[in-house]
Amino acid sequence: MTQVSIKRLSSSQSDFAQQLDALLAWESVSDKRVNQVVEDVITQVKARGDQALVDYTNQFDRMQAQSMAELELSTERLAKALHDLPAEQRAALEAAATRVSQYHERQKSDSWRYVEADGTHLGQQVTPMDRVGIYVPGGKAAYPSSVLMNALPAKVAGVNEIIMVVPTPDGVVNELVLAAAALAGVDRVFTIGGAQAVAALAYGTETVPKVDKIVGPGNIYVATAKRAVFGAVGIDMIAGPSEILVICDGKTNPDWIAMDLFSQAEHDEDAQSILLCPDEHYLNEVQSSIEKLLPTMERQAIIKTSLETRAALILVADLAEAAHISNRIAPEHLELSVEDPEALLPSIRHAGAIFMGRYTAEALGDYCAGPNHVLPTSGTARFSSPLGVYDFQKRSSLIMFSPEGASEMGKVASILARGESLTAHARSAEYRILD
Ligand code: NAD
Repeated sequence: MTQVSIKRLSSSQSDFAQQLDALLAWESVSDKRVNQVVEDVITQVKARGDQALVDYTNQFDRMQAQSMAELELSTERLAKALHDLPAEQRAALEAAATRVSQYHERQKSDSWRYVEADGTHLGQQVTPMDRVGIYVPGGKAAYPSSVLMNALPAKVAGVNEIIMVVPTPDGVVNELVLAAAALAGVDRVFTIGGAQAVAALAYGTETVPKVDKIVGPGNIYVATAKRAVFGAVGIDMIAGPSEILVICDGKTNPDWIAMDLFSQAEHDEDAQSILLCPDEHYLNEVQSSIEKLLPTMERQAIIKTSLETRAALILVADLAEAAHISNRIAPEHLELSVEDPEALLPSIRHAGAIFMGRYTAEALGDYCAGPNHVLPTSGTARFSSPLGVYDFQKRSSLIMFSPEGASEMGKVASILARGESLTAHARSAEYRILD
């Protein structure tokens, strides 16, 4: 048993709203010192290209590279990693890749058009991006699953070229990460990370090609750099620390819920795990499970810090109120660990991914359920969605007027253009009006 002091809240407290705001407050991506470092890094990469990349990689990742050639992995190297993988790992990686691809195939949207009575065509042409960059974090841990989750939707969308960056501190490469890159069909891999990798992808250097969009999670340096280069390139989102919110009716094995909370907490000290339950006795049981199970965890120090600084066990009046609070939080991952998750689902409006029922552990979604694990964090599920094929497709409007259609709409456009005193617009439309 290890004592773990986790915040206990009750929705019946008069200051509950303020307590909740304090619990959720997260200012990571506006850190002044980090902003300054990132600004300097971007300026240097723009000005000195490859040499700046080599210098920063040597400094931040403790490498001794002389040139960018040493910081690129050949496709043969990636293929070898896949070939040499132990059979069990290869089978698991392939099973995950197949399910992720199958799920994302369903997200693909096609071009569409309709024809009006006078023969005018209107629609949208959907095309993939030419070249995208995927950031695979590698500072504190390696994430083969992130390779699949970022690269496979791009592949499904039909992106021509996928450039991957992954830091390899002290030169330690993760064979599973390289194997996943080979399996997902990544075209080029550079062992660079942080703000310098984001800047290289955004602006291009002698060796690293400039991309159209950068996707993938990362630490505060990566998030700040993505925010700074947005506009020069597209980005998927600004990711904060990972979060889980569990709504439980008090009838799931408390060990399961404790472990589900741990599964976020072990990501990093800033990760957030919250449990909402209408049964106070059950919250005590989960607390006991946490204290019993923590000493068995490999990453217990990280879990303990995360739980003691950012977690909460919250007593609510009923499941309806739990759904209401969940919508206020708009969590990245939401588990509905209740008897009838379908009944609760219509009340859920904001969440990155919804895991329904006692058997649906969030961890399955991290690796192999099929849906993407790159999800909106820090309440941004209010307005954004999981990474998907749609992030790698763009749409062009299609307009093709028949002579009759141009004549009719020419009259409308002419009146509106003259109302704006835009004579060229008006006359351009009027030329097409049939006598
Ligand atoms: P990272 O690759 O994001 O960052 C490592 C890089 O940060 C280094 O290469 C270095 O360039 C830079 N850096 C570190 N310290 C610096 C300093 N003092 N000054 C300038 N640059 C510095 O790897 P990480 O640190 O392990 O962070 C990964 C993050 O991604 C974690 O927060 C993790 O939870 C998150 N993550 C999220 C998902 C998801 O799907 N949401 C998946 C995997 C990981």
